[in-house]
Amino acid sequence: MVYQRELAVAIDAVIKASALCDRVQQRLAGAALSKGDKSPVTVADFGAQAVVSADLFAAFPQDPLVGEEDADMLRLAENALMADRVVENVAAINPDLDRERTLTAIDRGTYEGGPSGRHWTLDPIDGTKGFLRGDQYAVALALIEDGEVVLGVLGCPNLPYEMSQPAGTRGSLFFAVKGQGAFMMHIGETTHTPIRVSRVGSAKAAAFVESVEKGHTNQSHSARVAQRLGIEVPPVRIDSQCKYSVVARGEAAIYLRLPTRPGYEEKIWDHAAGVIVVEEAGGVVTDVSGKPLDFSIGRTLRDNKGVIVTNGEFHSEVLAAVRAVLE
Ligand code: AMP
Ligand code: MG
Repeated sequence: MVYQRELAVAIDAVIKASALCDRVQQRLAGAALSKGDKSPVTVADFGAQAVVSADLFAAFPQDPLVGEEDADMLRLAENALMADRVVENVAAINPDLDRERTLTAIDRGTYEGGPSGRHWTLDPIDGTKGFLRGDQYAVALALIEDGEVVLGVLGCPNLPYEMSQPAGTRGSLFFAVKGQGAFMMHIGETTHTPIRVSRVGSAKAAAFVESVEKGHTNQSHSARVAQRLGIEVPPVRIDSQCKYSVVARGEAAIYLRLPTRPGYEEKIWDHAAGVIVVEEAGGVVTDVSGKPLDFSIGRTLRDNKGVIVTNGEFHSEVLAAVRAVLE
């Protein structure tokens, strides 16, 4: 089987990063800073990127990484205490990483991406706002080869085993390799099971998911789309690529991410792992105009607008409703 070594390394790295995030989420006070674009970043975002990047570099030293974070802020004197906490949390997971190695590993994520060769993309904490609220977040890692996503791993440390049992056991990991299907395992266990999208045949009867954050998707547009489709049940709002996981394992059949403002470019690390997990589970992912997401043009999906995910049973019907609302 191709990509078996890549898959084993990626799963192991995501499990370690998930453990780091979990550890930080338990003691959150003072763990966050605000980035230049005003989005929050935490000790765990930096720490998780260090842990995954170091593992990837040890196993595949030739492979570049497109990561969300860099260590510039951590090198500033005013953020020395934050840097100390990153280093401390990273060392608890990977004792080989001292301060300089940690910062170097974080800074390896600056690759620009593109159409040729292979590179990884990492969102060390997707859904940082959810993470800070104590809600859902994901560690999202994918491998892109010649512009195509070929492998994805999504760690969802807070996601219940079953959405119908919100108080039940939590912590799932999802993975997929191109042409080899999609699987789920419970973090902390070694067995995995195949997952499939829901078989629901009509959009009207589909459960739909979207972002918690109004700034990340146009919730009034999605309400109008749902109305056109005849969906009566309100959306389930979940942070991060856990939305892709929930569609992949059949608990929702539609995920809508509708543009909030004209100039926003979706980031490849916010989608690559989720897309392959859903596609390998039998689902379909396009942008609002029905185009596949193009991972070959750099760090962003600048040729796409929004994201529409379904179980594949009524994708064109959902696209038509989206088009009608956006026009
Ligand atoms: P979610 O948890 O699904 O709401 O998505 C979290 C991601 O939304 C973050 O990782 C950001 O990169 C991304 N994001 C930030 N601003 C926007 C925006 N205006 N539209 C779409 N996504 C955004
Ligand atoms: Mg993200």
